[in-house]
Amino acid sequence: MQDARSTNQEPASRKGSNTAAIISAFRVAHGLDPQVFFAPGRINLISEHTDYTGGFVLPAAIQFGTWIASHARADRVVRVHSATQNETVEIGLDVEPRQARKHWSDYAAGVVWALQAQHRELQLCGAELLIHNDVPLGAGLSSSASMEVCVALALLGVARQELGTLDIAVVCQRAENEFAGARCGIMDQFIATHARPDHAVLLDCDSLQSRLIPLARTHHWIVANTGVRHALAGGEYNLRRAECETVLAQLARQFPQRRVVRDLLRHEQSALATQLSPVAARRLAHLCSENRRVGEMVVALERCEMARAGELLLASHASLRADFEVSCAELDLMVAIASRQPGVLGARMMGGGFGGCTLTLADAEASERVMLAMRRDYRAEAGIEPEIFAAQFSGAAGKIG
Ligand code: ADP
Ligand code: MG
Repeated sequence: MQDARSTNQEPASRKGSNTAAIISAFRVAHGLDPQVFFAPGRINLISEHTDYTGGFVLPAAIQFGTWIASHARADRVVRVHSATQNETVEIGLDVEPRQARKHWSDYAAGVVWALQAQHRELQLCGAELLIHNDVPLGAGLSSSASMEVCVALALLGVARQELGTLDIAVVCQRAENEFAGARCGIMDQFIATHARPDHAVLLDCDSLQSRLIPLARTHHWIVANTGVRHALAGGEYNLRRAECETVLAQLARQFPQRRVVRDLLRHEQSALATQLSPVAARRLAHLCSENRRVGEMVVALERCEMARAGELLLASHASLRADFEVSCAELDLMVAIASRQPGVLGARMMGGGFGGCTLTLADAEASERVMLAMRRDYRAEAGIEPEIFAAQFSGAAGKIG
């Protein structure tokens, strides 16, 4: 399996070579011709920490993700081999689901459990799954949702069962929330199942209404992995969720007619803030400003006002750093390095924070030079070799061939 992050190959030919590689690995291991499925990872153009408060998000699927070669088994066992982890697990379809064990296989076992719990009508069968991925794990590019969605498609595919795309997204979110124990919103699973090539998706996390937003090829969205993931990330994420719940509780008391934060008018936001602790008021400020920025970003993209799009990225980063307090030295450094390159319109941290990736908007012609400069300067200043690539926007998860 080639590491596509080091190539700028077109998605179609890369998909072809990855598919050929996983088919041949499956044939060697099992002597059978498998079905192959792909589910993409994603970036998020703007809107962090807004999904679990019923806000708007603007994700887009990327060229990297999870690949599964699969074949039905005669028994009632789902046998999953992750090439990345070089490990195999067995999950029984008819046995009581085991407890999550903070292990990669929780994401597969969770999908087996959630599919059956949510859709008793499904007739699943045993399956042999071989998983490859070319999206980095734990970097905020949603390897978890791409794995969950790919496992769901593979299980449904070999059993010749069908489920709608929204149902698949909901099942996979449930697997991650209730089984694997990670409190994510629905954004990652939704984009993996609803993406379109060369589009972002504006998703209302409250109503689950969505709209496709075309992305011009005149500009590149550059992803830079800082290579750090600070240990406090998980704890701080849960803390932010708790802080947001405090905000939502006060919102319900003070403005019961406003169901979600994003419905607040500016003067209501100010009145609400006076009733909150200074910390909670800053979290509220981020949620409100970030939701407004999503709307403004959609307008900017639809009008191809890319300088404005860049300003919004910088404003988002400032808000995440100062109001939501989820940035870190490496993210700030990567954003600063990107921002000083000619041809760059804006940059921000992406994802939950405390490490992971940044997103930089650059003129397409400048993009190669910008990526080289970012790599050189980050290596020199942080002492870490970053992974950097320009996103190519993929379609939704599905069967290949
Ligand atoms: P992200 O989704 O941003 O990559 P998460 O922490 O949500 O980060 O999910 C990462 C976890 O998902 C990994 O640590 C691993 O447990 C699991 N995972 C994702 N892809 C695979 C894979 N191909 N093989 C095994 N585990 C995987
Ligand atoms: Mg994830």
